[in-house]
Amino acid sequence: MSFTLKTVALNDQAIGCIECNGNNYALTDLAHHNHWLDLPTTVIGLFADWAGNVTRLNAACANLAGLTPLPPNLSLLAPLQYPGKLLCAGANYYDHNLEMGVTETRKEATRLFFFFKAPLNSVVGPGDTVHMPLGTQKLDWEVELAAVIGKRARAVSVESALDYVGAYTGAIDISCRDLGRAPDTFYKIDWMAAKAHDDSCPIGPCLLPAQFAGDAQDLGLKLWVNGELKQNGRTSGMIYNIAEQIATLSRIMTLHPGDVILTGTPAGVGAPKGIFLRVGDTVAVEFERIGKFEVCIQPSLP
Ligand code: MG
Repeated sequence: MSFTLKTVALNDQAIGCIECNGNNYALTDLAHHNHWLDLPTTVIGLFADWAGNVTRLNAACANLAGLTPLPPNLSLLAPLQYPGKLLCAGANYYDHNLEMGVTETRKEATRLFFFFKAPLNSVVGPGDTVHMPLGTQKLDWEVELAAVIGKRARAVSVESALDYVGAYTGAIDISCRDLGRAPDTFYKIDWMAAKAHDDSCPIGPCLLPAQFAGDAQDLGLKLWVNGELKQNGRTSGMIYNIAEQIATLSRIMTLHPGDVILTGTPAGVGAPKGIFLRVGDTVAVEFERIGKFEVCIQPSLP
């Protein structure tokens, strides 16, 4: 039986839970019910022993009789509080590079590269606020499938790389197009100013364990701004696939369980049309098999 993992708000607390058979069950209740006193009670905690805990969660889903679900309609929070690292592939879909004016889009002519966001600052969840970054006039959206690492990965092969994915989730890579331009510097681009501001990485609505994701390299992903469909792609449109990204990253740095990799965005961002996010806008995203969530743009943090 398939399940997803969520974090929900209950009495002002973040509660790790599993959704199974249409009901949410607190991990704490599951632990008591099955006499697993060492089962972590947060979703990020499960990554201390992802394989072992997923085995137990699979068993738990077949043994729900007598267990009381959480009340329905609890607010969702960011499912992972918090990832160890947030790593993001840049310019990694053929159609997105075309819309951004990249004329040479053959894979051989493209270099896979990454940038960082700071998890505690950047991660927000379903229904949360994205505060307008200071000084930007060009706040843009990017819907992205995110892979969550399930076991330590160091210099792994492309062939084995997907074995290191524990789960998938949805993400939005919120970007300041103007702040990324740095024509007065040698490198001409400032990734941190463009991408690493507070609230720049909404994730959700849940974690889908990799065993239930099917072919993650062929999942649909969509994004709407104020109800208008802007992006409608498939992960098959990536230049460098998820396995290649993990293999490359794991040669730069060791990947740890609970690290999150944003895998790039398909066409349909605002920049090519000169359309950007404003205070009051709602950004909604939907990921095949994973689900949907939305966030709202609000004035800058003081
Ligand atoms: Mg991106």
